[in-house]
Amino acid sequence: MKKADIPTGSFEAQFSWLRRCGGYEVELAEVEQLITEFFRTLELPDHPTIYDYLVLGLRKQDIIATFNWDPFLMQALRRNRDTASMPDIRFLHGCVLYATCTEHEVLGIPTEECPFCAESLIQGKLIYPDDTKDYASDTIIHRDWMVVTERLKQAIHFTIFGYSGPATDFNAKQLLLTEWKKNPFLSINHVEIIDIADSDELRRRWSEYIPYQHEIFISNFWESSIAKFPRRTSEWKIAASMYGIPTEAIGPYRTDDLSELQGWYSKLVREEISTSAYLGK
Ligand SMILES: [Zn+2]
Repeated sequence: MKKADIPTGSFEAQFSWLRRCGGYEVELAEVEQLITEFFRTLELPDHPTIYDYLVLGLRKQDIIATFNWDPFLMQALRRNRDTASMPDIRFLHGCVLYATCTEHEVLGIPTEECPFCAESLIQGKLIYPDDTKDYASDTIIHRDWMVVTERLKQAIHFTIFGYSGPATDFNAKQLLLTEWKKNPFLSINHVEIIDIADSDELRRRWSEYIPYQHEIFISNFWESSIAKFPRRTSEWKIAASMYGIPTEAIGPYRTDDLSELQGWYSKLVREEISTSAYLGK
């Protein structure tokens, strides 16, 4: 290997390049193992984190699709699921704490059994950086991709949070874009991007995804629609885009105490339940 050939970019670019070079299978397997072990040791702190705000701020009709391997979303989901209905979560590159049943849609962890067929849940594979990622080759990853791309076709709002879309994710970005472009609501849809990069850079990076220049660029989560309109993002979006009615923000509710946060969200959940009952749902 010539030093000059080594890509200077991210870990993803370097990993992918080594795999393409060939001859480093043992070393790369060792790197994969170390990464998995490292991510398995990670744990959320006891106080609320943005992961808690994300899972509590969305409802079961919402979906989070993540490229992250870490266990944080799963941990947040499990410690908040008694407070509120949780969004669907899909792991497009796998996750160290995600296990499921190949026959049934289960969002579980490796030590659990499927509640439908009692089979032990299977630990999903991690997809490692590769320019030519093939998402169809693994049943579980493929299933998650199918669900996410199907939902993109029906979504009325698309938030991209802290994802730079590296070159090694070219296939992933194309798959998402193709389905997003089929969305019949594109004329009223917005793409909201939460990222510290400046707006020119974000526009350059994501212009193909942004319909009719309907863009919202924000640099921190607390200004996002999920933080300002927790569990009410679709109501805010429909009122603003379809009826031109502005909505007063109800969040974010900031606290360092998780039970206090859950108590605040419980009130929103009670409203949802009473509204559903009123509408006969
Ligand atoms: Zn099952």
